[in-house]
Amino acid sequence: ATPTAVMVATGIGANHGVLVKGGDALERAQNVKYVVFDKTGTLTQGKAVVTAAKVFSGMDLGDFLTLVASAEASSEHPLAKAVLDYAFHFHFFGKLPSSKDGIEQQKDKVLSQWLLEAEDFSAVLGKGVQCSINGKHVLVGNRSLMTENGVTIPPEAETFLIDLESNAKTGILVAYDGDFVGLMGITDPLKREAAVVVEGLKKLGVHPVMLTGDNWRTAQAVAKEVGIEDVRAEVMPAGKADVVRSLQKDGSTVAMVGDGINDSPALAAADVGMAIGGGTDIAIEAADYVLVRNNLEDVITAIDLSRKTFSRIR
Ligand code: ADP
Ligand code: MG
Repeated sequence: ATPTAVMVATGIGANHGVLVKGGDALERAQNVKYVVFDKTGTLTQGKAVVTAAKVFSGMDLGDFLTLVASAEASSEHPLAKAVLDYAFHFHFFGKLPSSKDGIEQQKDKVLSQWLLEAEDFSAVLGKGVQCSINGKHVLVGNRSLMTENGVTIPPEAETFLIDLESNAKTGILVAYDGDFVGLMGITDPLKREAAVVVEGLKKLGVHPVMLTGDNWRTAQAVAKEVGIEDVRAEVMPAGKADVVRSLQKDGSTVAMVGDGINDSPALAAADVGMAIGGGTDIAIEAADYVLVRNNLEDVITAIDLSRKTFSRIR
């Protein structure tokens, strides 16, 4: 392709909200063989909602929600926001004095008055959070966070959890002072166009892959819904780039689509890194493409544009 053709293609991309950083990236997209999708926030809307909360100890449900929300208040994970929303609505919806600000506007103020103080907070990468509340150790996160801290999950909770996961929900488990207390189920719906895009990629001869830190059962359920057969789950943030590299081993061109800080090493490792617009700045920086509209159809637009610009002229 001539420099002019590349310039024109870059302009066409920009008009569609597909920003490409340079002619090399534009050219590489035509040969993409694998498109690796991050799950949360990329295939899904990134708008997590709590669908279930169940206590498996003597703790009152309201106290349980206060505890979990207090632990999650310092977390930046999308799951944390869902937990805080749910706890807020459980405690306060319809109970606030009417005000022209409305309930949502008062949320931060109300939450700050009501949350318990969490000391020594830390995020456990790819697993959850831990802190100390009322002098007791609190753990909020996935199964492996519980297991590695020696917390036993009772069989009835395990049954409940498996049921959630089989229905594409992510389970959030909670331990207080070393004992399992209860769990929450969270759903994050697929983007409306996700399944159509996966289908479209297959038609183009491109192999879609789903990559996630979430557990296997949830990942499989989501993958089935969206039509992806190749799933890599329970991958720690550092492992995401390794998955990309393993696909590149036979010389294949690999695209990675992601939105989170977690995804930036994989975006950088990919031949074609595509960051979702509105995702974290670090992801956008690591990527070759920015899909400004946050619409997965633009993955196909980018591949199409590259194929049309380069293959035809050769
Ligand atoms: P993803 O690849 O889906 O973005 P992450 O690597 O961020 O996943 O997290 C992997 C898993 O760790 C989540 O699915 C969740 O089970 C658990 N997790 C991570 N952060 C939190 C948190 N703040 N609260 C509860 N669970 C968490
Ligand atoms: Mg993500």
